[in-house]
Amino acid sequence: MPNVTQITTLPPQGQYRAFTLKQGLLERQHELRNDVHNRRLEEDQAQALLRTQSETLVGIDAALARLDAGGYGLCVACEREIVTRRLLALPFAERCQACEEKAKESQGDAHQLADGGGRLLRFPEMAKA
Ligand SMILES: [Zn+2]
Repeated sequence: MPNVTQITTLPPQGQYRAFTLKQGLLERQHELRNDVHNRRLEEDQAQALLRTQSETLVGIDAALARLDAGGYGLCVACEREIVTRRLLALPFAERCQACEEKAKESQGDAHQLADGGGRLLRFPEMAKA
């Protein structure tokens, strides 16, 4: 198959065929690039969802263990009671709001904190609490 630079050296009929082939290839290339891009976005979203679900599962396992051990509702950092509205919004919370924010800051999660005014964005209902 002639490459693009050879198209102008083909007879008119061949030029038309090469042009048509090139158009078809460009359209297919565009479609495939879009498909690959969209598939990567879907995979990123699926990975983010899986990560969130895994973190939530770890949190629930830990909350169940605290319930069995009798420490449920107490902040694992400062040992003060976690306020009821926080536990209602996030039943597996292991820290009070203040300690959670300190923990997030120490993890260097500045982006999330900056966007959420220091609150947890994953649970926006808590931002109002
Ligand atoms: Zn605390």
